[in-house]
Amino acid sequence: MSKVVPPNSFDPLTPHERSVRMSLIRSKNTKPELIVRRLAWSMGYRYRLHLNSLPGRPDLAFLRIRKAIFVHGCFWHQHKRCKHYVMPKSRLSFWLPKLESNVSRDKKHLRILRSQGWEVLVVWECQLKDIRVVSRRIRKFLEGP
Ligand SMILES: [Zn+2]
Repeated sequence: MSKVVPPNSFDPLTPHERSVRMSLIRSKNTKPELIVRRLAWSMGYRYRLHLNSLPGRPDLAFLRIRKAIFVHGCFWHQHKRCKHYVMPKSRLSFWLPKLESNVSRDKKHLRILRSQGWEVLVVWECQLKDIRVVSRRIRKFLEGP
C-alpha cells in the first residue's frame, strides 16, 4: 500500500500558483470566478467557460475528465451557515422566493449533471479568502479519481 502524505506536510502551491496568490492579495476586487479560473489554469488545466450545452452552464467545464466547477456567490446561492452575507431585513417577500428559486435551480442542475456522469465541485465565494485551501481543494477535485 502506498503511503498517504498528509496535506499539511508540504506546500501545495507551485511557484506559479504562488504568484497568482500574490496578485490576488494585491487586487481585492477580483471576481471570485476569475480567481478560480486562474487557479485551475495555473495548475495546467484547460477548460470551457459557461457551456450552454450543460445544465446550469458551469463556470468551468473540464470536458475530457468530465468535471465541472461552479463558483457561487454566497448570498445569491444561499450558502448555508455562511457569515459572509447578511439577509435583507426588508422586502422579504421579494427576496425569499427569488433566493429559494436560485437554490432549487442549483440543486436541480447539480442533480442532472451528476446523473449524466459529471463530477461537480461548488466553490463558494467566502472560501476564496484562503487561496491555499481552495487551491488544494481544486487540485484534489481535478486530480482525484
Ligand atoms: Zn459563504
